[in-house]
Amino acid sequence: MLTRYIGIDLGTSNVLIGIKKKGIILNEPCLIAVNIETNEVIAVGKEAKDIYGREPQNVKVINPLKDGVVADFELAEIMLNKLINKTKGLKSIIRPVVVIGCPNNITKVEENTLKELAEKVSARKVIIEKESILALLGAGMNIEEAKANAVVDIGGGTTNIAVVSLNGIVTSKTIKISGNYFDAEIIKYIKSNYKLSIGKITAEEIKINFVDLIKPLKKEKLEVKGKNILTGLPDKIEINQVEIKEALEDSINKLGKEIIKVLEQTPEELSGDINEKGIILTGGGSKIKGLNEVLEDKLNIPILTTSNPETCVIEGILILLEKKKRRKRH
Ligand code: ADP
Ligand code: MG
Repeated sequence: MLTRYIGIDLGTSNVLIGIKKKGIILNEPCLIAVNIETNEVIAVGKEAKDIYGREPQNVKVINPLKDGVVADFELAEIMLNKLINKTKGLKSIIRPVVVIGCPNNITKVEENTLKELAEKVSARKVIIEKESILALLGAGMNIEEAKANAVVDIGGGTTNIAVVSLNGIVTSKTIKISGNYFDAEIIKYIKSNYKLSIGKITAEEIKINFVDLIKPLKKEKLEVKGKNILTGLPDKIEINQVEIKEALEDSINKLGKEIIKVLEQTPEELSGDINEKGIILTGGGSKIKGLNEVLEDKLNIPILTTSNPETCVIEGILILLEKKKRRKRH
């Protein structure tokens, strides 16, 4: 029987699935919408995100994975199965070998749960690999040498900071300052300065489409809709780019400090490599306009970006699968 390999990147925001030789075949939000009275599943992935923040009382939109580990096994299984059903190519692959990414700080128990989940959705064998390693591979880095590669993978719910050498993690830290955290800071800023309560989706849209950390302009304005917290009624305000930069300043400072902490724990020889080669930014959260330049300024180390920050992990898995085959042949 032909062995088929698939890769899964179960992120805190998005699920990506790839097949060896075919590439990425699925990229959808890691969400499931459930009617909590009847337990009926209403939507998964993109359709669940469309409902998010607009749901009636009896519907809940849930992310069954918290911080990259399985929080609700049953819902995670249903979500994955339904997402797999959405793709044409996957359903026909019977019991493949699955390579799945995991957070750097995963415990043995969490790892076993992740394996069990993949087995339930039909894997014959499950291989688990750390996300920072996969992100570096997907970013095109050579991690086999005894040389440091530093990566900051800014996802939805967590950011993984890591230094990798000889295919292994040297130092790493997982922190909460990531995409959702930035959204929450925007919500907080608008609430305290304008008494307007806005939804998470609105905040995310501001972050994605309106932020400019390098050349924010006062005259660059955006109308933001939400709910006046004093009257409880629908309301709207106008905000400019300088204000949004201000809203994010604190969290970006904290992120810089956390990166420094990891670098401080890194052995001297490897530190030298990082100074020379720089730190690579991956993950959707790294796409904030100007973030690389701001971090470079703060850390005084080159900050490199990739053209595919959101797909680095799944592409890393696909590269790993290719490598496995080559090794087998030799
Ligand atoms: P995960 O691996 O945790 O699922 P991703 O790497 O897919 O996360 O990144 C998701 C995060 O990236 C979300 O918080 C999302 O808002 C953010 N994001 C996506 N595109 C952009 C963008 N253009 N600018 C800023 N943030 C972005
Ligand atoms: Mg990720």
